[in-house]
Amino acid sequence: MQGTQAIGIDLGTSNSCIATLTGNEPSVIQSTEGDRVTPSIVAFGRNGERMIGQSAKRQAVVNPVNTIFSIKRFIGRTYRSRQIQENIERFPFRLAPSSAGDVRFDVEGRRFSPEELSSMIVAKLKGEAEQVLQRDVSTAVITVPAYFDDRQRAATKDAGRIAGLGDIQIINEPTAAALAYGLHRQQNQLLAVYDLGGGTFDVSILQQLGGKFRVLASCGDAFLGGDDFDRVLIDWLIEEFQRSSGRPLPTEPTVLQRLKNAVEQAKRDLSFSQSVRITVPFLSGGPSGPVHLDVELDRRRFEQLVGPLVDRTLGPCATALADAGLKAGDVEAVVVVGGQSRSPIVQTRVAEFFGRQPVRGINPDEAVAMGAAVTAALTTGQLPGYELKDVTPLSIGIETAGGAFTKIIPRNTPLPATARRVFTTTEDNQIIIRVHVLQGERELAKDNRTLGLFDLVGVRAAPKGVPSIAIGFEVDAEGKVHVTAADEDTGRSQTVRVSGRGGLAETEIQRMIDDAQLNEAADEQAREWLAVRNRGLTLVYQTERLLGDPSAPLMPIFRERLTAMVADFKRHLDRSLAPKDRHTIEERLAELVSLLRELEYES
Ligand code: ADP
Ligand code: MG
Repeated sequence: MQGTQAIGIDLGTSNSCIATLTGNEPSVIQSTEGDRVTPSIVAFGRNGERMIGQSAKRQAVVNPVNTIFSIKRFIGRTYRSRQIQENIERFPFRLAPSSAGDVRFDVEGRRFSPEELSSMIVAKLKGEAEQVLQRDVSTAVITVPAYFDDRQRAATKDAGRIAGLGDIQIINEPTAAALAYGLHRQQNQLLAVYDLGGGTFDVSILQQLGGKFRVLASCGDAFLGGDDFDRVLIDWLIEEFQRSSGRPLPTEPTVLQRLKNAVEQAKRDLSFSQSVRITVPFLSGGPSGPVHLDVELDRRRFEQLVGPLVDRTLGPCATALADAGLKAGDVEAVVVVGGQSRSPIVQTRVAEFFGRQPVRGINPDEAVAMGAAVTAALTTGQLPGYELKDVTPLSIGIETAGGAFTKIIPRNTPLPATARRVFTTTEDNQIIIRVHVLQGERELAKDNRTLGLFDLVGVRAAPKGVPSIAIGFEVDAEGKVHVTAADEDTGRSQTVRVSGRGGLAETEIQRMIDDAQLNEAADEQAREWLAVRNRGLTLVYQTERLLGDPSAPLMPIFRERLTAMVADFKRHLDRSLAPKDRHTIEERLAELVSLLRELEYES
């Protein structure tokens, strides 16, 4: 391969998209299947073979337990967290806690971390980009929701590393979308980016000054998106069915998955049709005969059902505006992205809220990846004249007396940011001060997320309240937090990097990187195998045509041998395709070819 190329990746909850800069324009790189977005789904087949993206999505109905989706909802979260526990029922796959309390996916006894599964998606996108561009890809920008905390960002970065990316920058999705929109509109304006995806909602207010973009405020809801629209529709279907047929709809995982596919399609159709028919034949067997589903859903009813969900996005919009010190009317361009924003009701409510129509001309499914590609080009100096400035997504502070949380750097502070505060002891002769650094917006320390915990030892023994301990905070441009604690009397100080760590230990990451490389080799083999198989199938087809042609001058002995060989060959090709069989197949293929040659020679 020739040289390297920087790429941008939108690693979404539902769909992922990869883009790069060609000339001065970002453009999406299509998948091998020819799609511009790839479902963020990883599945494991009966023989443990992995499927990623479209192929995983297609088989979800028949393999719901080992088809893992919405991985992003789990990344950097603990198993016991409220968000996971409240939603665990919704997922057909099996979840378990790791020994450190993080989330693991259980696939037939094998445990996968969210980072590892996400890395498989990243690796697929990266591999496809390398094929298309004929260049190595190691520098990448991966986007995350603006309110992702430090651990979620670090975990996302780890996913990129496991996939074999070397130089990874994490940026906020709305910033990326704004950049994609504002790239060729060099002016000064206030932008709102409204991103309603499959699993998350995000809104940011940005200021554009020519080529400079600065986030003024962000807000969102990590558990609000198109999946919830689907769920509301499934609940409605279940109710409708009960009402019209007098019996309950079975709700085993396969049925739920088929219902989900059906309502998702209906929801998409309703973005341009006024009414759709939802038909799912043979939804399930059962003692009282097969269950068929056939209902009509019109846009008005749809909008009644999902209206409350759309309204839930407006709260965070108001918060973001208030944090930025602005009113809805101050916003000069509303950039609406995310697949779910294609529903007309979303566009209407957003227009009502901001008092202006959302901008047109940007593709809601691709804007984030395009902006990421632009950012990647900025970092490699491919695109001069632009600059990005992000803000802290969440407040950073420390635990103080009585378990309170004292904010030191409030959320939405421009990066890089520094702050310094002086604290003192709370007990007489206290010689150790524990510094508990947290991130979040809640009043009590225990309700926020711990970034780090360390002890400043050797404080001068003195009555309480006398020592003065200066604590300095520094958040770098990437959002990593460094904390320095110094006893001003003794001059003793200690600096720690308290953030930038995901849930995986460095050794685990290394093991996963190795695994991924092994898998890449296996994928390579699988591709070669596929090529052999395809060659075989072509040959079988040609031979069968030859055998079926009465005018072909075939001696009976050849006819018999060829017929037997083709039958044998087909048996091999039909079996489950383990790459180790490749050798056998190649041998048969060679035999068949030489027999056909002989034939040519004889006749
Ligand atoms: P994410 O960023 O979370 O990966 P996307 O931005 O790809 O998600 O949005 C996915 C969501 O958008 C899904 O819930 C999907 O059903 C929904 N969606 C996609 N296309 C349409 C459409 N034409 N109309 C309505 N919803 C859509
Ligand atoms: Mg998205």
